[in-house]
Amino acid sequence: MRLLIMGPQGVGKGTQAALLAEHFDIPTISTGDIFRFNIKNKTELGLEAMSYTDKGELVPDSLTNKIVKDRLAKEDCANGWILDGYPRNAAQVEALDQMLDELGTPLDHVVALEADREVLLERMKKRAAEQGRADDTPEAIAKRLETYEKETAPLLDIYKSRGLLVLENGVGEISEISKRIISDLH
Ligand code: AMP
Repeated sequence: MRLLIMGPQGVGKGTQAALLAEHFDIPTISTGDIFRFNIKNKTELGLEAMSYTDKGELVPDSLTNKIVKDRLAKEDCANGWILDGYPRNAAQVEALDQMLDELGTPLDHVVALEADREVLLERMKKRAAEQGRADDTPEAIAKRLETYEKETAPLLDIYKSRGLLVLENGVGEISEISKRIISDLH
């Protein structure tokens, strides 16, 4: 099973990705987590990415596409994967198309989670208090939502036109949302 999980920050992508990964026994690939790991460990990639992530801006495609390409080539991706937080703009959609073409492994579904802006802001405020992520400042949160609306939300139409889009309500009980997604994927 090869899946994308899409939606704005705070909609619960990470939570649902983890449950889907467990259900289908596939790895989750979160570009945000990869950047955070590299930032924490002060790698060259981390140092470069940090100047963008801190402000809530997208890391340049050249860096981002490469980490996804390298990750998808790993052995544990042979039976599928779920990509969380990628692609985030039209150029990344194109880059992913090319990678999957080369690997001969097309996408199965694109799950898009939806929630009202007030719900998203409330959840992100809560997460900021709980986790203290460097990019959960009010400015960075606003910037990330703006970037999502402008660059990422339009990608849903691309996947809709390919017949891959599965729209899901991201508000409600975590386990109920997960059950709904899984039944809609069969
Ligand atoms: P996330 O945890 O998915 O919200 O990602 C945290 C931050 O990492 C984002 O605000 C971006 O700065 C960066 N990032 C994650 N995924 C991507 C991507 N696909 N393209 C560019 N930047 C990304």
